[in-house]
Amino acid sequence: MTDRPIVLDADFDSGSLDVAGSRVEGNIVHLAGRDNFSPGCWKRLHFTVSNVRGRTLTFQIGDHFDTDRDRLNHHQMVYSEDGGRWRHFDYNQRDAPEAVYSFRNRGPFTGDRVAVAYGFPYPMSRVVAHTEKMRSSAWVSPTASSDDRLVLGMSPGGIDELDRNIAPHPLFGYQIAEADDTSPKKTVVLMSGVHPNETLANHVLEALIDWLISDTAHACALRKRARFLVYPMANPDGRFAGYNRTTVQHIDRDANRFWREDLWADMLDIATVGRALIKDTDGQVDMFIDLHCWTDTQHHVGILNKKEGYWDDPFWRAMVALEPGLESWDSGWDNPSTETFAFERLKARFCMTFELMYLPGERLANLRRIGRHMGEALYRALAAGSVDQ
Ligand SMILES: [Zn+2]
Repeated sequence: MTDRPIVLDADFDSGSLDVAGSRVEGNIVHLAGRDNFSPGCWKRLHFTVSNVRGRTLTFQIGDHFDTDRDRLNHHQMVYSEDGGRWRHFDYNQRDAPEAVYSFRNRGPFTGDRVAVAYGFPYPMSRVVAHTEKMRSSAWVSPTASSDDRLVLGMSPGGIDELDRNIAPHPLFGYQIAEADDTSPKKTVVLMSGVHPNETLANHVLEALIDWLISDTAHACALRKRARFLVYPMANPDGRFAGYNRTTVQHIDRDANRFWREDLWADMLDIATVGRALIKDTDGQVDMFIDLHCWTDTQHHVGILNKKEGYWDDPFWRAMVALEPGLESWDSGWDNPSTETFAFERLKARFCMTFELMYLPGERLANLRRIGRHMGEALYRALAAGSVDQ
């Protein structure tokens, strides 16, 4: 036991907690979520708690959540004592009559500074580091819109609702293909990070990209049959600032409802990525996949239009065969999302919003497997049967 005061901090890349509104009483930490975008509804947590070695703490937070409190019923928060490996808390419970969600471990923390999060974090610095790694791959090149650092332009930055100055960040875009091979290639667009709190999506995208640039025979064959245009983080300011669904520039706007040229004029991050999509695809998009997360607890889901035949698309059939737990939900394109933009403006032949769920007990290794399987499913749909190794 220690008398040192417990200290909460969320003032770091992708941190999210209303520290001023949170308080510690004995071994109970009362948390206040940041309510940006949905008033009264926190939807994200990522913070550190210090001076905790030897202490068994209970964390509590109101169960307000994305207008549907039931979604917290099976949720499990995660923590890391070493900054690398994340585990789920032993006990996670929603007390509906008390309107409180609490989580704790059986025993005391062994680390003195522990990171706590709603789901596995993916800070903006990891996007920067991974994109930097891409620059050394023989299969990666800039798109028509990006420079040799794979940068399309800078996000606007701004002042967040905690009065912090959020600096502009690079918006990345790059191509993966075996450029020296002159075979005709399909164009596949991959993107993520539109909604900043949906961190699992970036873990899956990272695993998919790592697979696409790998030396496995199927990845080699696929790179000859398809070029991949990758936009890994469409809303970097929101991710850095720990936001829910909005950009920092416009805290009152859902970042996935402005993907149209007449709507995005004053949304500099969305407009930069949207214009790059138009220019880089140059009228040819075979497949468009935007990776998101959702706050349900049952299955990972592909949202894709049934009437257009996407449910029977060879890619999606291969994906469901590889990941039998996946569900297919119909898409109505009833709002100006990236998916609607891909269908209506880019004329994509196939488009999908892929939703990873924060499943209880889900392991990072499983999410990475889903990313690799997405690569394998793309191979089966676009390159199997070609003259590969
Ligand atoms: Zn989303």
